Amino acid sequence: MVKAVVGANWGDEGKGKITDMLAEKADIIVRFQGGANAGHTIVNNYGKFALHTLPSGVFHSHTTSVIGNGVALNIPILMKEIKSITDRNVPMPKILVSDRCQMVMPYHILFDQYEEERLGGKSFGSTKSGIAPFYSDKYAKIGFQVSELFDEALLREKAARVSEMKNVILEHLYHKPVIRAEELLQTLHEYREMIAPYVCDVSAFLHEALQEGKTILLEGQLGTLKDPDHGIYPMVTSSSTLAAFGAIGAGLPPHEIREIITVCKAYSSAVGAGAFVSEIFGEEADELRRRGGDGGEFGATTGRPRRMGWFDCVASKYGCRLQGTTGVAFTVLDVLGYLDKIPVCVGYEIDGEVTTDFPVTCKLEKAKPVLEKLPGWKCDIRGIRNYEELPENCRNYVEFIEERIGYPITMVSNGPGREDIIYRK
Ligand code: GDP
Repeated sequence: MVKAVVGANWGDEGKGKITDMLAEKADIIVRFQGGANAGHTIVNNYGKFALHTLPSGVFHSHTTSVIGNGVALNIPILMKEIKSITDRNVPMPKILVSDRCQMVMPYHILFDQYEEERLGGKSFGSTKSGIAPFYSDKYAKIGFQVSELFDEALLREKAARVSEMKNVILEHLYHKPVIRAEELLQTLHEYREMIAPYVCDVSAFLHEALQEGKTILLEGQLGTLKDPDHGIYPMVTSSSTLAAFGAIGAGLPPHEIREIITVCKAYSSAVGAGAFVSEIFGEEADELRRRGGDGGEFGATTGRPRRMGWFDCVASKYGCRLQGTTGVAFTVLDVLGYLDKIPVCVGYEIDGEVTTDFPVTCKLEKAKPVLEKLPGWKCDIRGIRNYEELPENCRNYVEFIEERIGYPITMVSNGPGREDIIYRK
């Protein structure tokens, strides 16, 4: 059976922690989209880790970690990441990389930087990891697939062809140094050396695993609002962040995805540009940022301070719906214990009308939050394991949000550790 762990919002909802926790009872964990642009922070018995490419199941030695065909694979970063965990005494994980996965090339990263530079103030706030140029090339059919590394004649011809195309833009649009085909070929050879031990026909592997009754976890990156189709286009990422895409990005039959756990954080945060209706500023935001997550709300990849806001029922209801949620994991609830009153965004006012339906981007830009204030619980809820033991105001907060988003909150996370979880019946 296949379960997906995905985000309802802008990412950073705590998917890594939930995946790491659920990996205990899983056999295979698959990353199916995105690249090393975002990160998951995981705290477990080995310490605190920031993962960018490896699935959050790598800390369990009984699991296999799979990088699916839908991922933007940065091979040097993957190698560094493997080393960074094994250097800290995590046993060498079993890792498989799809032979159909495509690779982020050094020029993708450069193009990302050059484009942000060119756009200046109008930039998208890209993490400059090469993700948008990578996916553009994939769909323009000039990307390099892992399988191609093992066909020397093809590689040589393609390195020359791609350099020629890229150089026109490098020279005339960006006025930057050009790519030398020989150097590109050399890089591809290095990548071949590094990745060879991990290459696998992943869809065949997963097919067999399902027949043997294995449990597969699909781990999403970012969240619904960053999906290129259903998110806040154009301030989105370049691959689908939806559970449905897990079937494609891993190579699985869609009907095998039986459980979709959508992760929602008890307040909001976002990185990058784009409308963020429930955003807060100043001291109010600074305090939540400082107290948020595990040691503050700063990007796991970039270290950038995250934009902060109150919980947004409109965005989260939409986010859960598009994921096809079977259960919500409601995270980082412990952080809100300092507030006397907790504002929640329950509607958007657009041109004088209030709606609870998440609008398209041009309308979203005009939306103003309709806030309702709930009483806080003013205590530390870490360590509590039974839902009934949570303070009444805390349970009211959870149940208020559950009702507004319309999906059952089946898990409440009240700390960064694996054991900081409350299951609801
Ligand atoms: P992801 O990308 O969705 O995995 O999210 P991130 O890893 O970027 O952000 C989640 C942050 O919150 C990490 O620092 C986690 O360790 C932390 N975290 C996750 N769940 C909880 C929780 O319930 N309480 C607290 N205090 N921190 C949490």
